[in-house]
Amino acid sequence: MKKFFWQLIGVIMLVPVLFLVGCGQSETQELRRVDTAMGTVVQQTVYVMGKNDRKNSLTGDILELIRKLEEETLSWRLETSETFQINTYAGSGKWVELSKELSQILEQCQKLTEDSGGAFDVALGPVARLWDIDSWAAGQRTGSFQVPGEQELTDALIQSGMGQVQIQFLPGEECADIYLEDGAALDFGAVGKGLALDEISNYLESDGHITGAVVSVGGSVLTYGEKPDGTAWRVGIADPGDPSVNMGILTLTGQWYISTSGDYERYVESGGVRYHHILDPGTGYPADSGLSSVTVLAENGLLSDGLSTACYVLGRERGMALAQLYGAEALFVEKDGEIYMTPGIEDLFRPVD
Ligand code: FAD
Ligand code: MG
Repeated sequence: MKKFFWQLIGVIMLVPVLFLVGCGQSETQELRRVDTAMGTVVQQTVYVMGKNDRKNSLTGDILELIRKLEEETLSWRLETSETFQINTYAGSGKWVELSKELSQILEQCQKLTEDSGGAFDVALGPVARLWDIDSWAAGQRTGSFQVPGEQELTDALIQSGMGQVQIQFLPGEECADIYLEDGAALDFGAVGKGLALDEISNYLESDGHITGAVVSVGGSVLTYGEKPDGTAWRVGIADPGDPSVNMGILTLTGQWYISTSGDYERYVESGGVRYHHILDPGTGYPADSGLSSVTVLAENGLLSDGLSTACYVLGRERGMALAQLYGAEALFVEKDGEIYMTPGIEDLFRPVD
């Protein structure tokens, strides 16, 4: 619960930043809303132009998009989701047809696995469930946390990874077939929030009355359009040493997808050691690449979220190369507090004194 509390505080700390400039034009209405979904805080500020009958339901519709994505497609916990259902076929010897949506998501995730040399891997489910750090961090588990034993970790690693999954697109088909080896399990935790931003962005675009918005789903943020007064969006980057304060501000105009992965977000401590939730698929242990956090700005939410996880596992030098391969910008905070960034982010970032 403690970690969730800090996450909540981190998001709430953003609020004054986001509201630094109010909207003065009477024809534009500002809608704000804070909820929880995908096990995290969802915060919306949406600017709507003119008389719009759907004003009242708009932020509710956006929240519903996130919940629907979780309940129908991505959750590995809820029986209602496609991911949960697909995972039940592991070891059955059967090929299963995926929806068009999940086929496209998996195809992009598979490419990111290849490009990251396996640092990012949505088939890491068996190892992630063994640690279950998200549940510990959210206070959903009681008793004392035990570090997994060597043998059970080795067994979980054998069942993990895209090597345990086959995906096949038949010529001309939009929906792929999938085959999971015994014990394999998909876990979209590393891209779910980014995927939610992609859906939200499509929704904002299709509405026609929304002039600007900033939506955060945990550590992933979408900026869209403009503020009524024309000033830039300001997105805070939490200080990994004290996530209740921002260590810097990104000043952005227009549409951006920004995701942060860090060791301070979800973790459990045992014997004076912090075990966080970003796992190294090579070792099965929490990644130890010398970083405290990585923030990535990319062309879509799947990439910003996926790349921030991958870059965290890879560390600064290899992470920087991966971000640049995708034309993304990245900001790395090392454990000693040193900050490194790709050239394109230098003009956008200002440290907080
Ligand atoms: P990221 O770095 O983006 O992702 C880390 C997560 O990805 C890990 O938690 C693990 O699941 C997975 N992962 C770890 N290492 C790797 C790797 N190397 N490659 C690929 N994947 C990796 N939390 C709750 O407490 N309760 C909930 O009910 C709940 N439901 C959720 C439902 C959905 C659909 C999603 C997407 C998330 C949900 N969460 C829930 C949150 C989830 O458990 C993770 O904590 C969250 O997705 C992590 O996001 P992040 O941006 O902090 O970290
Ligand atoms: Mg991620």
